[in-house]
Amino acid sequence: MKNQCVHNSELSHADIVHLLTDEPASQLYARADEVRQAALGSDVHLRGLIEFSNICRNDCLYCGIRRGNKGVKRYRMGDDELVETARRAVEIGFKTIVLQSGEDMHFDQDRMSRIIERIKQMDVALTLSIGERDYSDYEAFRNAGADRYLLRIETTDVDLYHRLNPGMSWQRRNECLLMIKELGYEVGSGIMVGLPGQTVESIAGDLLYLKDLGVDMAGIGPFIPHPDTPLANEQGGSLEMALRTMAVMRLLLPDINIPATTAMESLHPQGRIMALKAGANVVMPNVTEGEYRRLYELYPGKICVDDTPLQCRTCIGMKIQSIGRTIGQGKGGHIRSASSA
Ligand code: SAH
Repeated sequence: MKNQCVHNSELSHADIVHLLTDEPASQLYARADEVRQAALGSDVHLRGLIEFSNICRNDCLYCGIRRGNKGVKRYRMGDDELVETARRAVEIGFKTIVLQSGEDMHFDQDRMSRIIERIKQMDVALTLSIGERDYSDYEAFRNAGADRYLLRIETTDVDLYHRLNPGMSWQRRNECLLMIKELGYEVGSGIMVGLPGQTVESIAGDLLYLKDLGVDMAGIGPFIPHPDTPLANEQGGSLEMALRTMAVMRLLLPDINIPATTAMESLHPQGRIMALKAGANVVMPNVTEGEYRRLYELYPGKICVDDTPLQCRTCIGMKIQSIGRTIGQGKGGHIRSASSA
């Protein structure tokens, strides 16, 4: 282990493995918290997450809305319904809207572009999380005004990726991320922690991959087995390992946006607060309405399925303030500090 004076971003693969396994957790979290405070201050940025379709062409073994799960009642919002959901989220104060869905090609280039244009008239930052598309789609969405794109690489263990994502290609996913970057989106990526067969060494490699890619945002969450998927009987990831991984991400990339993920809160009622104290600076409250919340079930134990957007906004706002943090008032994009430029 290098001594503490070495710049955090120079951590080697071996250093990272050490931090993930042997470093006392409370020490690691405190260090990530300090790095976050020094680089970004107390602000926590809120993103309103709209889960607008659970229809998906893919069959990812871990995911509750995989094509092969015939037990899911499928839905997709209408275009106007989606835009109105965004409008209500903006009305209750969100400055960033995240549109997430399965890979539902009903939302083709033209339809999606029109939706983006309409939401962008509301003076908000807009993030897309709708999976793999071709270059011309990414380009059209960017031209329509989308600012950011979230696409988790999930794992950099290529064999594991191919086992978990039948019919998909790791190389293709990597290319999608490169296209997104080239088009000038703020790039969000990330991984799941605790996938079956995933090793600590491979998680360390994932973190270095995200650093090399130069992500603007990194979402890290525990894998939670869904009972109606082929991985139902797997163990899943622990909150501690997910928090450790997130904390090391903060050491590697001091000024990026790191969300306290909803999956963390599904494992522990204070999971997101724990994450905010261990390097995170973003929360993505759900602003999906009504029955759709329950139907967008990537993993079991999803929180707040009976709440309204306003309840979620109020609840997380109070939690954030209770730990002495402030709610970011701007759009909360990635601002590179001088040292990382
Ligand atoms: N279809 C889009 C976005 C929706 S999935 C896409 O693939 O990018 C959003 C994220 O949820 C995935 O990237 C994955 O990391 C996470 N996820 C899916 N199933 C999960 C599970 N069982 N436990 C924890 N996270 C899961």
